Amino acid sequence: MVEQLHARIAMIVDQMRRSPQTVTLSYIGDDGGTEVAAAMMVRIQERERPASRREALSLRVAGRIQAALAQVILFAEINSDQQKPQPALDLAQAGEAISGLGLAVMNMAPGTEYVTIGADIAALARDTLQVLRDQVRTGVWTSCPCGEDHGQAEADAQVLSAVSADLLFLPSAAEPAVQTLIPVRP
Ligand SMILES: [Zn+2]
Repeated sequence: MVEQLHARIAMIVDQMRRSPQTVTLSYIGDDGGTEVAAAMMVRIQERERPASRREALSLRVAGRIQAALAQVILFAEINSDQQKPQPALDLAQAGEAISGLGLAVMNMAPGTEYVTIGADIAALARDTLQVLRDQVRTGVWTSCPCGEDHGQAEADAQVLSAVSADLLFLPSAAEPAVQTLIPVRP
């Protein structure tokens, strides 16, 4: 019975290494992994997504995208998104994307220039950046909702332009890999 349980947990840990929960597991480290795996069984079953496809980003682009993801959280806070009955931003997904990118940078192979991330992390980052793009484009979110006009429209247009450009580095699964499409901007 105990052996069966251990086998089951080992299987779950293995599954998690190939799912979005990889981020949490990697962050905690392997020592805590087994307990976390047991606790997260249900969540994994609900959320498992294929992560076998990997995407490569230059280190500079990975940094840009992390900064952009943090901007989404900043904009959500400024615009009281989480206090709305139906928030536009899924904070957990944003957190997974940021953490996943950070861990990918940490685990870069020595001597390489590219950060590789799973397709799952790329999808979470894309979904999160699309929230900022769509909320700013429709005027629901602004860089300052104080009510006075002090140049927000221009700042918002620049944010929209920047996040739209960043999204070009995260093509959807149907499109070819990133680094062959877009050169790193100066
Ligand atoms: Zn203001």
